[in-house]
Amino acid sequence: MHKKHKNPQLREHLYNAARAITKDEFDIAIQRMRDVDPGAVEWLELHAPKEHWCEYYFAGNRYGHITSNIAESINAWLLDAREKPILAMLEQIRHQLMDWFAKRRLLDINVEGILVSSVAVQIKNTLTSRARRYRVITANDNVFEVFSTETMSSYSVRLDTSTCECAEWQMSGIPCGHALAVSLELGTDPQIYAKPFYKLATYRQTYSNAIFPRNAINADPVLPEEDPHGVHLPALLPPNIHRQVGKPRKVRIRGGLKVVAVRRGLLLCYMWKYRSFKEDLSDTCLEDGREAIS
Ligand SMILES: [Zn+2]
Repeated sequence: MHKKHKNPQLREHLYNAARAITKDEFDIAIQRMRDVDPGAVEWLELHAPKEHWCEYYFAGNRYGHITSNIAESINAWLLDAREKPILAMLEQIRHQLMDWFAKRRLLDINVEGILVSSVAVQIKNTLTSRARRYRVITANDNVFEVFSTETMSSYSVRLDTSTCECAEWQMSGIPCGHALAVSLELGTDPQIYAKPFYKLATYRQTYSNAIFPRNAINADPVLPEEDPHGVHLPALLPPNIHRQVGKPRKVRIRGGLKVVAVRRGLLLCYMWKYRSFKEDLSDTCLEDGREAIS
């Protein structure tokens, strides 16, 4: 979209639309885009259905995560490794993953409580800045009405389904200010209202299995049933590879163009090459009869 519609304000409004968790928030952000450049909204409607990128319309839950191009992220992480031959590349990826797992295993190692530190801090801040301002009216053990005396608006909070009328709790998995107001009213630990995947125990379990060096003593190799001790396994050797002549190509070949491969020692007819992009030519150059190389 940015190639055709270049106003820098569009980016901010687009991200606001993507993060919207209610229809009103989405409509406001889209209207602001339309005010800046109506063509940009038309382009979006034509090329990118909102179910694919807006949190409110998305079929699943994104829990507040938005990444415009995840392939670019992993590509940046693999940039050094992908320049190497296949075995060296796999070894480097394994080393990076070993390091990745080891470092993440040490994160939050001294944190107390139930949740990972980033979520615990977010809850603490919401408790301080918002939750204490609300008035809570109890309907039953699970349903509460949370009323703001400042905005005169009220929200229905359900503890049994972990939902709030403001939609923030169910969208992010982290209790909103209204749910935390109920927690204060009940005198319960506010951290118990976050989704289980934010718990320290879950986080530690994710990285509990280490990636081992090759032939590590502590590794637990998976061996076939008929050879449980691995005594008959053949020695693992690298595959036979034939190194291609010349430097590997890095420039992407766009679709729709005829590709001309250059073989060493032969002369490429440049006239044919030029024309082959323009017309559907035969394999023989009309100018001097030289054959095109393919
Ligand atoms: Zn809420």
